[in-house]
Amino acid sequence: MPRILDGTAIAASVKAEVKREVERLASQGVRPGLAAVLVGHVPASEIYVRSKIKTCSDLGLFSELISPPETVTTDEMLALIHGLNARQDIDGILVQLPLPAQVNAKLLLEAVSPEKDVDGFHPVNVGRLQTGQPALAPCTAAGIIEIMKRSQIPMAGRNAVVVGRSDIVGKPAAILLLAENATVTVCHSRTRDLGAFTRQADILVVAIGKPAFVTEDMVKPGCTILDAGINRITDEEEFQLYFAGNARREMAFLQKGSTIVGDVHPNAYEMAEAYTPVPGGVGPLTIAMLMANTVRAAKLRRGLPV
Ligand code: NAP
Repeated sequence: MPRILDGTAIAASVKAEVKREVERLASQGVRPGLAAVLVGHVPASEIYVRSKIKTCSDLGLFSELISPPETVTTDEMLALIHGLNARQDIDGILVQLPLPAQVNAKLLLEAVSPEKDVDGFHPVNVGRLQTGQPALAPCTAAGIIEIMKRSQIPMAGRNAVVVGRSDIVGKPAAILLLAENATVTVCHSRTRDLGAFTRQADILVVAIGKPAFVTEDMVKPGCTILDAGINRITDEEEFQLYFAGNARREMAFLQKGSTIVGDVHPNAYEMAEAYTPVPGGVGPLTIAMLMANTVRAAKLRRGLPV
């Protein structure tokens, strides 16, 4: 039976440590603060941001939600970011994506002070990460590494294959794995014969946004699978393709009318020595690492040891 890497439990440990650190900092008169900028009304974004704000409050961080209207301009957003960069009570700035089409997202993300860039998207943090300097790493990629470290999964010298090369998950995951001395291969939509690469993986990280795309014939028996995919499915026939015979899951699907499947087919998990389930694997780590990054940013900015 493969080992299930319980992301919910690991995220709870990370958050408990963050909470203790926030209490310790409070005794030094420091309260880390996060500003979340949420433009307009995108339901999924509203859920994510609300959950981030609530977690701040649970862990004792200061937080502020700023909600410019859907019609906001790039200049107005830049002025907002510059204001947050200058504030002493704000250590982390989070601009929830996606932004409306009229806003230049790239310009905006580069306007966030690298010291407050808790999403780790600023080119300065990307460069720092790549050159092994203290940096703020993108939260989902950092969460993937955190799961492996806390589950005693060795990385050094092992073949790690990352499928997906987005700036927010695939690329930073590859850089972090390299920093852990894994031998890293990055695959993407133009990779020829993907399975020939994934079958070499001792550690397989998948972040492509395609439901159950990696099938059991594509994984090496005994590998570790980190599945970042979050794909909502509502179609009964599609459900049966992934979860046939899983009565517990089927009952939940019928009740809710939807379920979440990763980028790896559930049958492929069975080939692994260990895997992150979906939901409850990589997903919960993202907010936990955002909290950890905010505390880290607060300490780095004040010259405190991290
Ligand atoms: P993305 O920006 O859409 O990037 C997808 C990547 O997958 C691209 O690099 C693309 O290659 C590659 N790809 C697409 N089809 C492929 C194929 N057939 N074979 C090989 N590679 C393929 O996605 P993302 O933002 O990284 O997100 C990926 C998944 O992770 C999504 O399901 C998303 O919901 C999930 N996610 C989860 C969290 C979390 O857990 N909190 C956070 C972020 C994302 P090209 O570069 O060649 O186009």
